[in-house]
Amino acid sequence: MIDSPDTAFMREALRQAQKALKSEEVPIGAVVVQGGRIIARAYNQVELLRDATAHAEMLAITQAEAAIGEWRLNECDLYVTKEPCPMCAGALLHVRMRRVIFGCADERGGAAGGLLNLLQMPGLNHRCDITMGVLQEECAAILRGFFQARRGDAEPAVLRNGEKISAGERPIENGEKFRQEK
Ligand SMILES: [Zn+2]
Repeated sequence: MIDSPDTAFMREALRQAQKALKSEEVPIGAVVVQGGRIIARAYNQVELLRDATAHAEMLAITQAEAAIGEWRLNECDLYVTKEPCPMCAGALLHVRMRRVIFGCADERGGAAGGLLNLLQMPGLNHRCDITMGVLQEECAAILRGFFQARRGDAEPAVLRNGEKISAGERPIENGEKFRQEK
């Protein structure tokens, strides 16, 4: 079976997550796509950079801005293996990211519908389309493996609640919960 474009781009995000794993970082990867082409690839580097803001999404956003020489990424889509946190969701709104596609959800800390839906918050001046559950099992498994290997660490909620998400892709359209006025 041939991968859908979303699945193919998520596979590249997963490859980035594998790089994080090799560097003993929490294995989360992200890519930014514009016009069907990957313009940024990044993985979590919090430990390497000793910077709590060095999430895969933040690094990918900065790379994408540099790649197109523009802070507005309104024709770009971000693929990330785990649901973005509130910090990254805030950054995604600031750059006007068109779509956010993620693998596994994080009901304890996710800001794309898990804990809260910052990406589609009424009253804010931008909303992102969201697609969740792309390669969900693979994205969750790499995190599960990482935390199991570091026995004693608290397991993140995403793994505990991963089963709640139905298999396959489930888009959250802008109009599903909140009506967007264009
Ligand atoms: Zn984040």
